[in-house]
Amino acid sequence: MKNRKLLMIPGPIEFTPEVMRAMAMPTTSHVAPAFVECMGQALELTREVFLCPGGQPFIVAGSGTMAMDMAACNLIEPGDNALVVNSGYFSDRFGAILERYGARVTHVKAAIGDVPSLDEVEAEIKKGDYKALTVTHVDTSTAVLTDIKGLAGLCRKYGVLSIVDGVCSVAGEELRQGEWGVDIVLTACQKAIGVPPGLALLVASDKAIETFKNRQTPVGSYYSDWANWLPIMESYENRKAAYFGTQAVNLVWALNVSLEQILAEGMDNRFARHRLMSDAFKTGMAALGLKQVPVSADKAAHTLTAPYFPVGVTGGVLPLIAEAGVILAGGLHAEIRDTYFRIGHMGAVSASDILATVGAIEAGLAKAGYKFEHGTGIAAAQAVLLQ
Ligand code: PMP
Repeated sequence: MKNRKLLMIPGPIEFTPEVMRAMAMPTTSHVAPAFVECMGQALELTREVFLCPGGQPFIVAGSGTMAMDMAACNLIEPGDNALVVNSGYFSDRFGAILERYGARVTHVKAAIGDVPSLDEVEAEIKKGDYKALTVTHVDTSTAVLTDIKGLAGLCRKYGVLSIVDGVCSVAGEELRQGEWGVDIVLTACQKAIGVPPGLALLVASDKAIETFKNRQTPVGSYYSDWANWLPIMESYENRKAAYFGTQAVNLVWALNVSLEQILAEGMDNRFARHRLMSDAFKTGMAALGLKQVPVSADKAAHTLTAPYFPVGVTGGVLPLIAEAGVILAGGLHAEIRDTYFRIGHMGAVSASDILATVGAIEAGLAKAGYKFEHGTGIAAAQAVLLQ
């Protein structure tokens, strides 16, 4: 019997065998000609995956929080006004990071499961002299999806820099940085990008780079300072070795493989597959009588689902679901933490992963004493997949 359980949390996710093989290759020097080619290619492919042909990509060792830190420290100067479109836990985190670099931060907050409307955000933008706006595309604490196209449009209208935390969205949720005119999109590699944790990815617009170059004050972080990293990225793209901090060599090899796989699928196909997997999974949960944290379907992400536990069931069901072979995540948003759970379905996720996960949830719920007709969740999910 196979002992390995399916990892269906909202990152890290299940990775492809090809990516894992790249991780296991003998490590090359970070200035070896083959690695220089690999890093140069990874930068070019990052631009394609972000759908931002004119952007400046950065690939740096670090987690998603490091990418948030890099955006904030390079663009914010003490006393700047920043607006946080707040949809949950990771929006709060962006606020804290911005404050650390001296920004005066205002939050436009929504109720749990909801997102601030464009009208609310526009009303606030009109009130203050904002330099930058941050928004979490998919808040991993609530599975809520924000309208990036609309917000980026507002930012352009009022001359505000748009900074999108795409950690739980890039390469899964539809996001067209170039076409929508987003100044910064950032992510980490362990989610829909499909690589074990350890790389921060960020693509900056010309306007963002220009804002950085026109700074009056030094960047408050030594490691994240673009003055250190920009020449390195440019050099690798010109296929010349360069050193500031040692690249996470094996992760970059793996990233290159994953980016090629993503682009071989095609971005539009990939967005459509994420929508289909999400619809199937959410339909399965609804058929079992489980409500979700997002207030409506149009505000629900496609990279993860956050269902409330049904009446009479607690977080004690998660180990029972794990016993049935699938590892899921508990709640994260402090105010509702014990009332819901989270399932990631992104990256290389397949229809069989969705069915296995709904099946394991059914098994766990049945063992927890929840009354439902066995198989209804699986049948409902399958019906969507077969459409
Ligand atoms: N933003 C979002 C939306 C996230 O989901 C996460 C991680 N779950 C982060 C930021 C922080 O990323 P990391 O844990 O890699 O630092």
